[in-house]
Amino acid sequence: MSQDTTPAPQKKIVILGGSYGGVSTAHYILKHVVPNLPEKASYQVIIVSASSQAMCRPACPRALISDDMFQQEKLFVSIPKVFEQYPRDSFHFIHGTATELDHTNQAISITLSDRSTENIDFFALIIATGASTHSPLLGLNGDDEFLRTNWIAFRKALSTAKSIVIAGGGPTGIETAGELGEFINGRAGWFSSKLENPKVPITVVSTSKILPDLRPAIAQKAEEYLAKVGVTVMKNARIMAIEPQGAGTDSVATKATLTLENGNTLDADLYIPATGTRPNTGFIHEALLTADGRVDTNASTLRVDKAGPRVYAVGDAASYARPAVHLILSAIPVLCANIKRDLLLAAGKDESSVGEDRVFKEDTRETQMVPIGKSKGVGAAMGYQLPSFLVWLIKGRDYWLWTTGGLWSGKQWAKES
Ligand SMILES: Cc1cc2nc3c(=O)[nH]c(=O)nc-3n(C[C@H](O)[C@H](O)[C@H](O)COP(=O)(O)OP(=O)(O)OC[C@H]3O[C@@H](n4cnc5c(N)ncnc54)[C@H](O)[C@@H]3O)c2cc1C
Repeated sequence: MSQDTTPAPQKKIVILGGSYGGVSTAHYILKHVVPNLPEKASYQVIIVSASSQAMCRPACPRALISDDMFQQEKLFVSIPKVFEQYPRDSFHFIHGTATELDHTNQAISITLSDRSTENIDFFALIIATGASTHSPLLGLNGDDEFLRTNWIAFRKALSTAKSIVIAGGGPTGIETAGELGEFINGRAGWFSSKLENPKVPITVVSTSKILPDLRPAIAQKAEEYLAKVGVTVMKNARIMAIEPQGAGTDSVATKATLTLENGNTLDADLYIPATGTRPNTGFIHEALLTADGRVDTNASTLRVDKAGPRVYAVGDAASYARPAVHLILSAIPVLCANIKRDLLLAAGKDESSVGEDRVFKEDTRETQMVPIGKSKGVGAAMGYQLPSFLVWLIKGRDYWLWTTGGLWSGKQWAKES
């Protein structure tokens, strides 16, 4: 009988969050970091995530309308399944939520999906817990079941809704308005500047101009496209009160009365708050957070300097860059090069053999694409305005679903870059 001589994994590289940041980091470490370490069998990569499924989050504005909008098996992908390709002991998935980080003792407490608890001592930690939206329709605020349950309740109410109000003129609010407008109202003909008497009037309430990260001419174009699908934009307006409380957040299908700053009210059969995100960092000591609640991350090295050795953050939970997928993807090779460097040093290699830190630099050029329904869109990439056709081609056709297959499977990270 042969005996298993593989030593039990001792050094846990724990990744919190199973989305763009977490799944990418895990693949990259398993492909390019661990194989280059001495005693590689002594490391184990662990993803802890509140959702066992990764999903193409940007697709939510269209996906929330119907399961027919996207192939569901492409939209949601099982995390444990895509990591079956690695040696058995090198990876472990934990379906659970991080509840307390004890950075001084390098330990993390987790509540598992069956409500039991677990504590893990980590050797390295990557915080990639992202951010939640006010509306539970727009991402994995809980697990995928929670998201689907909310979509089902919303769709039921949508079939009889007579008015919709969306708070927030950022890309999520505008995309959601465009998708719902086209789906319910259709699109005005070539020669009409707006859709007269839409079946369901949709109002976007925005505190400033819409799409603030894009130049005014592009935002203006978006307003014109929105008008063609029955969406009106109310600018320089702010919702001060929502009655009943919890409409749009605790319950996605509740009628609401919204009171604006000027005292006027709006009645909505459906109300969607799309007013930004909150970082999922409630389990982290406030000494490690910035004023806006993100993890205070070294913008060059992606280390969390105040947290002690080998603690890093990436994605929407971290402060190094603005929240966007393309910036996460450009951060992964830098993050993982620095993790590799730190692990080699911890394994006894000397400074001269491991080289310098790799440095991240945020690309701050105007880059954002905003589909408005299934055939139109506005946007810019690397500072250049894009025609509607290109926005459709790159993003509007399937909201990036063409990119997530390679990301979740790890093919995107086949080469060290
Ligand atoms: C509607 C919408 C549309 C968007 N469209 C675009 C776009 O077109 N282009 C673009 O570049 N960006 C877009 N973004 C932003 C983009 O989705 C985010 O930048 C990206 O999802 C961030 O990835 P992340 O890995 O940091 O975390 P997230 O995607 O936020 O995921 C976090 C993961 O961590 C888990 N988690 C949370 N808390 C815990 C915890 N305590 N313990 C364990 N696990 C936890 C969650 O369940 C989730 O799986 C959009 C965002 C939204 C909301």
